[in-house]
Amino acid sequence: MSEPYNDKSTSKVRCVALLSGGLDSTLAVKMMKDMGVEVKALAIKTPFCDFDCGKGCGFRVKEVADTLGVELKTVYLGEEYIEMLKNPKYGYGSGMNPCIDCRAMMYRLAKEYMEECNADFIVTGEVLNQRPMSQNLRALRIIERESNLEGKVLRPLSAKHLKPTEPEVKGLIRRDMLLDIKGRSRKVQMELARQLGLDAPNAGGGCLLTDKQFARRVKDLLDHVSNPTLNDVELLKVGRHFRLSSNAKLVVGRNKDENELIQTLMQDGDLLLEPRDVKGPKALLRCSDGKVLDEDLALAASIVCRYSDADGPCIIIVSDGITTKEIKSEPIIDTMLESYRI
Ligand code: SF4
Repeated sequence: MSEPYNDKSTSKVRCVALLSGGLDSTLAVKMMKDMGVEVKALAIKTPFCDFDCGKGCGFRVKEVADTLGVELKTVYLGEEYIEMLKNPKYGYGSGMNPCIDCRAMMYRLAKEYMEECNADFIVTGEVLNQRPMSQNLRALRIIERESNLEGKVLRPLSAKHLKPTEPEVKGLIRRDMLLDIKGRSRKVQMELARQLGLDAPNAGGGCLLTDKQFARRVKDLLDHVSNPTLNDVELLKVGRHFRLSSNAKLVVGRNKDENELIQTLMQDGDLLLEPRDVKGPKALLRCSDGKVLDEDLALAASIVCRYSDADGPCIIIVSDGITTKEIKSEPIIDTMLESYRI
């Protein structure tokens, strides 16, 4: 029989693990399981990571939890996340990623779940110095402090570089079984995944907020809309974006799927534009105060005309969802077009 990894023999040690489905959190959960710890996995989705952005979290998390044989709870953050994003206490990273505030929010949810399921501590796959903003020593301390979890967060991959946590001090977990990984390389983790028989998941990266182009769209939204909604955020993920004026933004579909998506995101006050006689995109004109100025509409029509199959002027149908009208437009010239692109 293999040696028990923890010294607590009277009752099962239980933890709540933040599981993204990426390599590090998967390894952390697997280590806990192999130590005989009961793991309750918690996946937290923000409005900026809740689809398959190809960065290793998204849809995989359920599959990973099933493979690991752990119960999974998923929490979806919504308006409260956007509220925090407007003014994060610890600022943004290289994009519009408020990683410290974001992690603190996730830790607070993990704490609630820990209390709810009477778990002993929290586990994360964080690796010291792997990510510049949220995984340095100072940031890890701030995040624990902000969520009232000081001493209760075990990071099995980097534990030997960190102060012993409560579960180690209490003998629930043997420190000598924990690891000393740090830095950005994933080599050790890949090798560990192989040894543990895991089909190495993607290494994982940041969410959409770390993407430079997407971050520009987010910044533009926060600069022009005082109370952005989840619909505004969903719209950021689709099409080409143009800032027409401080009040008006145009989103132009790039293909059939985006055209359909744009139409489903249309809400009261928005206008939908499309060419009448030639193939071309659907575009959504959204004004922050709900009032569309004629010059913004004319500009929007000229952009839709530019992306249509028309060789010259064309007729653009404008709909508010109930009534339609038609306007004649000329395609905008490319140098001008670029000055509006977000
Ligand atoms: S990259 Fe940063 S902001 Fe995005 S989900 Fe991760 S911690 Fe949160």
